[in-house]
Amino acid sequence: MNRQAADYHARSLDDVLAELDARSDGLSSEEAARRLARHGANRLPEAPRRSVLLRFLLHFHNVLIYVLLASAAITVALGHMVDAGVILAVVIANAIIGFIQEGRAENAMAAIRGMLAPRTAVLRDGARQSIDAIELVPGDIVVLEAGDRVPADLRLIDARGLKAEEAILTGESVPVDKDVAPVVPDAPLGDRASLVFSGTLVVAGVARGIVVATGVETEIGRISGMLAEVESLTTPLVRQMDAFARWLTLFILLVSAGLLAFGTFVRHLPFDEMFMIVVGLAVAAIPEGLPAVLTITLAVGVQAMARRNAIVRRLPAIETLGSVSVICTDKTGTLTRNEMVVTTLLSADSRFAVAGEGYAPEGAVQRENEPANAAGCPVLLEFARAAALCNDAALRRTDDDWRVEGDPMEGALLALAGKITDGATAPFSSLARTDSIPFDAAYRYMAVLHHDHAGHAFIHVKGAPEAILAMCRNQRVGADGAAPLDLHYWQESVEQLASAGQRVIAVASRPADQAHTVLNTTDIEGQLTLIGLVGLIDPPRAEAIEAVAECHRAGIRVKMITGDHGATARAIAAQIGLRNCDQVLTGADLENLSDAELATAAVETDIFARTSPADKLRLVTALQSRGLIVAMTGDGVNDAPALKRADAGTAMGLKGSEAAKEASELVLADDNFASIAAAVREGRTVYDNIKKVISWTLPTNAGEALTIIVALLAGMTLPVTAVQILWINLVTAVTLGIALAFEPSEGGTMRRPPRARNAPLLTGELIWHILLVSGLFVVAVFSVFAYAIDKGYPVALAQTMAVNTLVVLEIFHLFFIRNIHGTSLTLAAVKGTPIVWFSVISITIAQFAMTYLPQLQSVFGTQPVPFTDGIVIVAVGAAFFVLIEIEKQMRLAFRKQAAPLPND
Ligand code: ADP
Ligand code: MG
Repeated sequence: MNRQAADYHARSLDDVLAELDARSDGLSSEEAARRLARHGANRLPEAPRRSVLLRFLLHFHNVLIYVLLASAAITVALGHMVDAGVILAVVIANAIIGFIQEGRAENAMAAIRGMLAPRTAVLRDGARQSIDAIELVPGDIVVLEAGDRVPADLRLIDARGLKAEEAILTGESVPVDKDVAPVVPDAPLGDRASLVFSGTLVVAGVARGIVVATGVETEIGRISGMLAEVESLTTPLVRQMDAFARWLTLFILLVSAGLLAFGTFVRHLPFDEMFMIVVGLAVAAIPEGLPAVLTITLAVGVQAMARRNAIVRRLPAIETLGSVSVICTDKTGTLTRNEMVVTTLLSADSRFAVAGEGYAPEGAVQRENEPANAAGCPVLLEFARAAALCNDAALRRTDDDWRVEGDPMEGALLALAGKITDGATAPFSSLARTDSIPFDAAYRYMAVLHHDHAGHAFIHVKGAPEAILAMCRNQRVGADGAAPLDLHYWQESVEQLASAGQRVIAVASRPADQAHTVLNTTDIEGQLTLIGLVGLIDPPRAEAIEAVAECHRAGIRVKMITGDHGATARAIAAQIGLRNCDQVLTGADLENLSDAELATAAVETDIFARTSPADKLRLVTALQSRGLIVAMTGDGVNDAPALKRADAGTAMGLKGSEAAKEASELVLADDNFASIAAAVREGRTVYDNIKKVISWTLPTNAGEALTIIVALLAGMTLPVTAVQILWINLVTAVTLGIALAFEPSEGGTMRRPPRARNAPLLTGELIWHILLVSGLFVVAVFSVFAYAIDKGYPVALAQTMAVNTLVVLEIFHLFFIRNIHGTSLTLAAVKGTPIVWFSVISITIAQFAMTYLPQLQSVFGTQPVPFTDGIVIVAVGAAFFVLIEIEKQMRLAFRKQAAPLPND
């Protein structure tokens, strides 16, 4: 197979088709299934993952664990078997939790990568369809257009203006021209212009090609043999926390060593006792579980976004999304439904109303409330011909409905042609397309050249009225006549249709010579005859209206950037509820602005019409120069630079090109604006949860550690013993912190302004919170301990009560942290989430076991706590909760006054 594949580029097309036993109109689906069984799926094998054992063992590869293992060894040497056992239990529990969490996070990411599996357009059973690229087989006919990632190695069958960027194969980033003509057999890979290679990018043109190799048989498959490495599960924020945690660990180890020296040499405490205390202290203070919990928090966030149809391609985007302050969005398909229907036709002398719903080619055409048809109004046939020929879409009848393959607007035009020609789905099939100029968002028109068998040739053009009117000399009148173009009339009519929110397309045509087989822009400039205008409606999405309002409440500006007409854009913007609907800037306006003027205009204006992809890039840059954090949507290959430049580039999953997706941080599975708003909400939630995990962990650890340090320095009896501290870390690490990773969005999440781009995580507020909470921990634990001693209880019982106090405080602190932006004193806050209650209940059971089970009592030196004293402990926790809650309300009250929330 390889030897033959090597010369497909040099052979004639017929030869290639014969060799692959294929036809230029595609395989049948049965044949494709047979070939799939024979050749296997069209994908590269994944890089082998590390073995399960190795991945588990890697969780022991960490400074803290080494320190703990060494401590366990020393503890054994000192003869404290029980303590050594507890230390080992902590170590193993840590590794197991880390291992399980990492596995869950990786599975979540793998599932999301699956959602981005590329699809491709093929001809099967004689019709164009879109299939998963892994189902391609040799002999399939693939349809390519600009922005596609080539799904397999293809021999071109026909190609127009095709350029491919082959850097991943040849290292050459300048796109190369591709053409169907065979090349010399010994041409190097970069010169095999009649082939396009799997994994390369189509940057311009359209083409069809036959699959000559799939999967590992492709050139890229032979080079690399496997998929690229997967991205690791981290973000800048989490990396920052990792680094922080490492330094903190070192710091705590040094402090511990200092205390060991102090205890042994200054206080003259026995070394082995001091050693255990210091080990307990280190375990208490080091946030060993933090990195794993943060990873889980990210994974939970990615999953939550995916459920809302927002697929994260680059993890750091989660953080960026939470701080987005402007969303620049497309109109068509994002704010509107992209379900187009033609409702109006306007010729030089008549106006037609077209009835019908969806894409069914059935519906009445009326002129002034009278039925009209092509026999009575010949111009209708002209409309139908232009609509049907200047078209790359196909209509397909499903059980109860009609579907479009391709651009919905073109689908609507096909349906229109069917309505005029009485339900025909493929009208004018006797005309064969000889050449075309594909639609380009920068020029906004499309042109086609057709020949019939009787020696006639026609050019048909459709596109934005400005573009088409500029190319017309005449307009059609009556049965077959032509009159000079009445520019003024047409411009008025465009304005009038567009202000009703209709998308307006102009169609024009001209005859051509039979010998004419190549279409150039010079063939159409100034030589066309205008047939008329086509008005389409595309209703706004109801959920987009709601989502725009939500963004406004959240202090996020929404801007519409569209290629459509200004009046259409304004009408839709008003229906959607954008802020500043009076002011519209067009691409031409933008060109006349300097960068400084543009920055001001970009901030003030919410509607940008008749823009080209290049304008998008300028707009993002302008907005960013004002310190705004920009989310920008896009779909075409030309949008890639703007998507890359934007802080949160967002590609359309359905109609977006592969190039746009690859340039983006985020892909919308449903192309819906509401999904962007949902992603921002989830982004804010993830950031909050990261902050909550940290705000819970650090003060809790500091509180535990301080309790020991204070006792040591003051020369008092320890209120909690070393093993007990180890125990607390063992049980709380598994339960409480993780619950915060699953916190849902707080009530006001989308009523707060966006956070600043570089808002630090360790704010003065957090440091104050750490000091306050750890201070209160120390006071509460010592108070309970002193109270017990005062009552004449034995030290062991007093210590048991102190341990339980610590755990109760942690639980109350957890409930407090769940609502950092609002009050925790609401019914919903108390109800919590199932996972919070699961954590609280498990930890309560663990505490009861430790306190009342004789076996555990002997391990941890605990004694049963009397019922009334249990009540006292819980009451202390409640008092702690009330105190910190009041302190929070005081701070919130001040903040509200300093910065009133938008729309509050
Ligand atoms: P948007 O998606 O923002 O509405 P586009 O860049 O897709 O804008 O289209 C801009 C304009 O180009 C449309 O208003 C329409 O007039 C014209 N247009 C769009 N698609 C086609 C097409 N397939 N063929 C011809 N003209 C088109
Ligand atoms: Mg579009």
